[in-house]
Amino acid sequence: MPYKARDVSVILMILRVLNKRMKLSEDEHWYYLNQEKGFRGEIQFDILTEKLKRDCYILNDLQLESSTSSFQLDSTLIFQETCSLFDVKNYEGEYIYDAEYFKTIGGRDIQNPLDQLKRSKLLLNNLLQSLGSKLTIEAYVIFINPQFTLYQTPPDLPIILPTQLDAFIRKLDQKPSRLNQSHKNLADKLISLHQTVPPKIQVPNYSYEAMKKGLTCCKCDSFSVTIVGKKLICGECGCEELVTVSVMRNVEEFKLLFPEQKITTNVIHEWCGVVDSRKRISRVLRKNLKITGLGQWAFYE
Ligand SMILES: [Zn+2]
Repeated sequence: MPYKARDVSVILMILRVLNKRMKLSEDEHWYYLNQEKGFRGEIQFDILTEKLKRDCYILNDLQLESSTSSFQLDSTLIFQETCSLFDVKNYEGEYIYDAEYFKTIGGRDIQNPLDQLKRSKLLLNNLLQSLGSKLTIEAYVIFINPQFTLYQTPPDLPIILPTQLDAFIRKLDQKPSRLNQSHKNLADKLISLHQTVPPKIQVPNYSYEAMKKGLTCCKCDSFSVTIVGKKLICGECGCEELVTVSVMRNVEEFKLLFPEQKITTNVIHEWCGVVDSRKRISRVLRKNLKITGLGQWAFYE
């Protein structure tokens, strides 16, 4: 069990809603798919670390700050003597190693992830020192996708290729490790420093007007839904959901995209589209959120 579980990042949550409700440009769509792919890769690595039998604290996805520089760690494992950090990459295809860029035969080159890793290692080291921890930091780039090859990789680099992954995890599991209260304190401290909203959210520009309005299916994201009694029924996959649940799910999407906007019956009525009655929206909001103000000036929190 990870000590800190991985959540879907705010960036990815926003991108998912944008992809559903507006037309992303080709580059934006590519960026979105890469974020999804990166997340899938991280989950795959989580499955491997969760199998470790050694005593260790597994901290998935930390967004930290050290001397005003922020850095993100995909996966951090605290052992008795070491703090191991892992940058997980879900690239696939054939690449040729180069100190600056990994080159492909045809497609897009990628920046050598060791630069980023060095930076994260240094910043984490500063942070641990400021917290009085004496753990040694080990840092690795993990290439998780079995369809990834990197030709001409110098063997002494902290790069773990898919073919080396099993042996690497086994070695990790042989680290002598006995944890005490100081390790737990450190794990708790790092979690308390985790910032839920990354400093710069990199998402495409969007506006309320450009968004497609309407309730969507909770399973397949389709807008082809109809209301029958208390239920929302999807015309694509047949999935059924209570209208109340569905409205609140879409309120959450609205809040994610427009955190500054006030939640009012009118706004949500337009946002949800398919619900005819404003009274029904109002009932759902009143039941699930706290109302402030009266009549036409009322809004929900
Ligand atoms: Zn559906």
